[in-house]
Amino acid sequence: MALQRVRWVPTGSAREDRVLDYAAHELSRYVRRLTSAQWEVKPIRSAASVEGTAYLFLCHQLPLPPDQPLTPAPWDDGFLIWTQDGGLFIAGRNPRSVLFGVYAFLEQQGVRYLRPGDDGEFVPEIEALRLPRAPIVEQATYRHRGVCIEGAPSIAHALGMIDWCAKKRMNTVFLQFLSSRYFYNRWYERPYNPQFADQPVSEEEALAYDDQVIDAMQRRGLILHRVGHGWTSAAFGMPRSGWVVADEPVPEEYQRWLAEVDGERALFRGIPINTELCYSHRSAFDAFVETIVHYCEDHPELDVVHVWLSDATNNKCECADCRKLTISDWYAKIINTLSEELRRRAPEARFVFLCYFELLWAPEEVAIDDKAGSKGEDGNAILMFAPIARCYGHALADPACDDREEWPRPALNEYAASGHNAFYVQRLAEWRQAFAGDSFDFDYHLMWANWDQLTDTHIAWLLHADLQDLKALGLHGLVSCQAFRAFYPSGLAMTTLAEALWDPDVPWDGMRQRYLDAAFGKHSAFADEYLRTLESFLDTGDPQWRATPFSNLDAHQLTACADFLATALSEIALRRESTAERARDRSLDLLAYHAQFLQFFVQAHRARLAGQWPEAERALDAAADFLRDTEPTYSTFIDTQLALRAVDEARRVE
Ligand SMILES: [Zn+2]
Ligand SMILES: [Zn+2]
Repeated sequence: MALQRVRWVPTGSAREDRVLDYAAHELSRYVRRLTSAQWEVKPIRSAASVEGTAYLFLCHQLPLPPDQPLTPAPWDDGFLIWTQDGGLFIAGRNPRSVLFGVYAFLEQQGVRYLRPGDDGEFVPEIEALRLPRAPIVEQATYRHRGVCIEGAPSIAHALGMIDWCAKKRMNTVFLQFLSSRYFYNRWYERPYNPQFADQPVSEEEALAYDDQVIDAMQRRGLILHRVGHGWTSAAFGMPRSGWVVADEPVPEEYQRWLAEVDGERALFRGIPINTELCYSHRSAFDAFVETIVHYCEDHPELDVVHVWLSDATNNKCECADCRKLTISDWYAKIINTLSEELRRRAPEARFVFLCYFELLWAPEEVAIDDKAGSKGEDGNAILMFAPIARCYGHALADPACDDREEWPRPALNEYAASGHNAFYVQRLAEWRQAFAGDSFDFDYHLMWANWDQLTDTHIAWLLHADLQDLKALGLHGLVSCQAFRAFYPSGLAMTTLAEALWDPDVPWDGMRQRYLDAAFGKHSAFADEYLRTLESFLDTGDPQWRATPFSNLDAHQLTACADFLATALSEIALRRESTAERARDRSLDLLAYHAQFLQFFVQAHRARLAGQWPEAERALDAAADFLRDTEPTYSTFIDTQLALRAVDEARRVE
């Protein structure tokens, strides 16, 4: 008998049951699109009549098949799918994992989640569901699999990203600051594209948008991270959600709390969140901790609060008492105090501390408490490693990326660090000595490098390589600090991020091929060849992949590239005519869009080589106009503000 209904087993927790109910409705909704069958959805107490029923439940609620080691875990994901007595069973380690099991089952039916939005999914029509012959068990390799809001997203973009993350089994979304206003306003105010500028959103409106995002996350059981920078200025009465310059003075009573830099206690370059505190001053230290604990008490929806110091270098306090410890040792004191206070007053909350800038060097005197998690047991602290200035030409663990210099801890406010990956790996190893607990990489593959490199295919490969290495480096996952709109030109990097976080042992060639087949269908071989050829034109030979694309090509090579793009555009147009599936048509459309964009660059570089500078400038102006004018149509996939970086970069070529 064919399956006819879906039943989910309630846990009694409203928060958990909401996710299970959603998972059941998602299963029913997609099955209808796949086979036209209409499945009725209901909660049920036990698996009474098995035949014809799909059951969704947590792994401890009903018996599993023999020898299946799935255990309940709120933080770690895994699911089991099997058939028995004419029924289908999907069990998860937590409600979110049940939903992930549903999406994995749907992928086995041929569904593909390429990008957010209606035309980002491929859903085939099939005669009947393909049920697994043997139980399928999958457990995520990494605990932390997420994205952090950056770039210029609208509320619709943010909601689209949440939906896509859940479908691709990413479990974490991080909203920076007290609200995401700064990022929303990049979109609504559109300073980079004034023709589409709208009214800015207020702090209240931004918080209401965030509530929508959090609601969408809760429906899917995702893990919410929040805040990051901003605690220093919140402590001295100037909370800010972004790198804004203050137009008012620091309140008189807090002046003494600010770091003393060059003999002055003042805002650092006028920016509150870039201003450091004088941590040896007891009231400043206590206020910093208290502000965070109080926030956690007020925000039970929060799973992980990020407790970062200011977002600048060479701004640390130079007073005699602060000088007695390194900034990392002051940070260790904060971690210990905060860990204890949170255990007492917000025991569900975990917090992240950040190894970044001066904090890349581990503390040398202050030991982090066992209860925070320093000995490897789960405490309430999580180490986050953020190698922001690393190289995105080499994998993090690639020993070839090494300048062979020492890079000792810099003297106070004389920060200097390497841009080579060996430096970061060394700093991380020292931190893992100081703190062996929970951890993850906070990385920027899709923040700048993909836009600057003018393709996402090199960064996709790099993500795969990095994710293969993270575990050995002592990191339990990655939260990608990136544009929410980064599904371009191929979308391969986003899929690689999600899939290699779940299972980095799937070989690269297979992962790439599988994605191209999904995104392009019968045009997969064409897209593969196209992207490879293009990558060879864009690869400047710089091992760090930092040099401006095309700047290395001579006139002959530029002509070859122009011919290649023109031929590809005709070919893509023909292929689109024979493509009925919307998702695949959109994939081709994005390739064509990209080819058109690159044509301006080729034109500019050819003019530059011919000494025709005004002509080169005009071509780059046209490239920027092209991006801006088309933003409404392509905004789900391309962060225009970040894509414009490459145009500016090309203008700088001598
Ligand atoms: Zn001080
Ligand atoms: Zn490198």
